Amino acid sequence: MRRRNLLKAIGAGTAGLVLAPSLVARSLGAYPFAIGVAAGDPAADGFVIWTRLVTAPLDEHGGIPAVRIPVDWEVAADERFSTVVARGQATANPELGHSVHVEVQGLQPHRHYWYRFHAGGETSRVGMARSLPAAAELPSRFRFAVAGCQHYEHGHFNAWQMLAQEPDLDLVFHYGDYIYEGGPGQLGPRPNGVVGVRQHVGGEIYSLDDYRRRHAQYKSDPQLQAAHAACAFASSFDDHEVDNNWVGDISGEAVDPEMFQLRRMVAMQAWYEHMPVRRAQFPLLTGMTAHRRLDVGRLLRMHVLDTRSYRSDQPCEDGRIKPCLREARVSGSVLGTGQERWLDDGLGNDAVWNVIAQQLLVMPFDRRGPDDEHPNLGTDIWDGYRSARDRLIGSIRKRDLKNVVIVSGDYHRNIVGELPVRDTEPDGEKAAVEFLATSMSSENPNNLPVDYVLGNNPHVQLYSDERGYHLHEMTPRQLVTEVKSVDQNRTVGGRLARVQRFVVAPDAPRLQQA
Ligand code: FE
Ligand code: CA
Repeated sequence: MRRRNLLKAIGAGTAGLVLAPSLVARSLGAYPFAIGVAAGDPAADGFVIWTRLVTAPLDEHGGIPAVRIPVDWEVAADERFSTVVARGQATANPELGHSVHVEVQGLQPHRHYWYRFHAGGETSRVGMARSLPAAAELPSRFRFAVAGCQHYEHGHFNAWQMLAQEPDLDLVFHYGDYIYEGGPGQLGPRPNGVVGVRQHVGGEIYSLDDYRRRHAQYKSDPQLQAAHAACAFASSFDDHEVDNNWVGDISGEAVDPEMFQLRRMVAMQAWYEHMPVRRAQFPLLTGMTAHRRLDVGRLLRMHVLDTRSYRSDQPCEDGRIKPCLREARVSGSVLGTGQERWLDDGLGNDAVWNVIAQQLLVMPFDRRGPDDEHPNLGTDIWDGYRSARDRLIGSIRKRDLKNVVIVSGDYHRNIVGELPVRDTEPDGEKAAVEFLATSMSSENPNNLPVDYVLGNNPHVQLYSDERGYHLHEMTPRQLVTEVKSVDQNRTVGGRLARVQRFVVAPDAPRLQQA
């Protein structure tokens, strides 16, 4: 197609080369919504709707020509789109891998909406999302799920299908590890020498095209697509969206920080391109701002944190120097000065609940095995940053908050417990409850006996090796949390295996099993 002819077809636009609708139909050649739709970051008056034009997820540029393509969108008050309440046209730009992020505004608070896109003569599937309650409202309940760590090779996304079918879900907090960066079979060994159920395409990912293709491969999964179409997400990232155990400018491997910044930059661009997030999270050359708040009326404030971008290096060369003594764990910062102050300010509010939504285990956790004489604490979790944890606890206590619920992930186990005010007194006073959700599919080869782990960690009530997610139902009176697991992920179509239930009151950071 000649550029001159195209320009004639669309008129001389000032916004660059946009494909006219009649040409789009011809040029895309196939269904362009192959990796689905999503909604995210709801507010009282709307939410983000997202898609990325892709006809062939594993091909160069997803099979899409490198031109600007108009994408029509619409939001309706009913599933059949008989009452369209908002519509418009966005442009899918090649600079952003033909992703589209529309910040829909002007909607009514706390109600369900349906959305879809049109491009190239095709219509996307329909997604559903719910706006948040109005600021002055005290909703009778808010249900949100916490999930993440979805290694594509380790298992099918049966847990995502299960989550997609949860009734009345308001939001999914994704704590990260949405993709894993390794080549086929690289993140092992898996327990008992079990081989993966499917393979990553390509080797370890480094370039923007690599990261785009990996995201597109994951998003080709119909069970993951179903979850996105069912509910709005609040998306964050952990390490594997970029590189194992990275923090700040430091790679998990021994790499020149300037070199690593290039990798982080393209990985963050690809993350933005594939997540339903706002323009405030646009990837800049200097990094991006991923921490933000969601206010759910007067019921809860969710503080979404970024525990990677501003963190200081892990102590003891990330645990390679042993033993890693307590003294080595006091100097660092998890959030960086700016985000720490932002969180401290944000905890000053009158909501019934505060939810700190982040990536890493906050409470102390002794991982020693039966042969270890001494405590064994992690370095890539808050245990590596004891002073930073003390400052977080200080922020909670100076306001006398009893309503703090921490949700986390990364560990590929369920860990539910109470955060002690002093890490030397796990039986003592508590500052918050913590629900660490296990992985959706990723395995963890550690196999410590459960009773042994619980014996070494008296503040922990649940430690279990399952795949699944957590479902939190918050009301003004209580939080009821269900820890849900899927029975298997070796073949598509697992079922609910088990539920363990916890109840928390907003005036005491204590867990009750129910
Ligand atoms: Fe993970
Ligand atoms: Ca991780």
